[in-house]
Amino acid sequence: MSVLPQRGLLFSASASATGPKPTAPWRVRCLAVTTTRAPPASRPKPLSEAATTTSMPSTTPSFLDDPSSLKSTWSHRAWVACGCTTVFASLAKSALLAAESHSLPGPVLAGWVGYILADLGSGVYHWGIDNYGDASTPVVGAQIEAFQGHHRWPWTITRREFANNLHALARAVAFLVLPVDLLCDDAKVLGFVALFSGCIMFSQQFHAWAHGTKSRLPGAVVALQEAGILVSRAQHAAHHRTPYNNNYCIVSGAWNAFLDENKVFEALEMALFFRFGLRPRSWDEPSSEWTEDLNATASTRVDT
Ligand SMILES: [Zn+2]
Ligand SMILES: [Zn+2]
Repeated sequence: MSVLPQRGLLFSASASATGPKPTAPWRVRCLAVTTTRAPPASRPKPLSEAATTTSMPSTTPSFLDDPSSLKSTWSHRAWVACGCTTVFASLAKSALLAAESHSLPGPVLAGWVGYILADLGSGVYHWGIDNYGDASTPVVGAQIEAFQGHHRWPWTITRREFANNLHALARAVAFLVLPVDLLCDDAKVLGFVALFSGCIMFSQQFHAWAHGTKSRLPGAVVALQEAGILVSRAQHAAHHRTPYNNNYCIVSGAWNAFLDENKVFEALEMALFFRFGLRPRSWDEPSSEWTEDLNATASTRVDT
């Protein structure tokens, strides 16, 4: 689910998260009277919006001037190979143990649960880094910064090479799954871990396909998207449109309707705001740090 670090892109991503807390959050009023987060006309312009609108001119993203930043390196490929190896090892070990015990339904069901929960996990993580923290946040700061870049220039994900796009998640999967492979002898646990970690690792590829155009995608990918097995292009496109607060899941997208219709993330945002004073970026939308840079799109987009 990650978008890889694009160090050339610097944003004022922290502005909305660290800006002054409102004495009476406008969004409370919104929730009471409407189902959208579009700010009322009378809402004062957020400080973060003012800051980002003036500090972020519409420019061509720097990585388009340096196309090599979108290409895979041997280090990227090595990490993807490590991640795939650990996932395949857990899958193979699960199958062998299931065959030995003549009990296949349990591991198969566990794998299906892993696939379903990977979609939920991708949504929760995506929501978290879209809305909280900034480039200086420990561990995930580069991913937060990169996701803001993705919102500004979403089409560039289709130009990023495979291993370049997946290596960060593959590295995390390799480190987390290897101990499970070595220490676990439960076919169901291994089946769950294989599908969950595999789907998380490839979620960024599913995400890239969701930004592709139907005529340029492989037919099998289009079929999987249209069957709801992979997140659809239409569903993910909604994430990049106002009000910029929905459709966070990027594996199958199966959880998006439930999470959005039941306002699960909105409830979490309210809880975090009232408990810790944390203000999600989506409350300040639209702002130039989140919305697509259409000027750059018009001047640079040639492949869609
Ligand atoms: Zn996003
Ligand atoms: Zn996207």
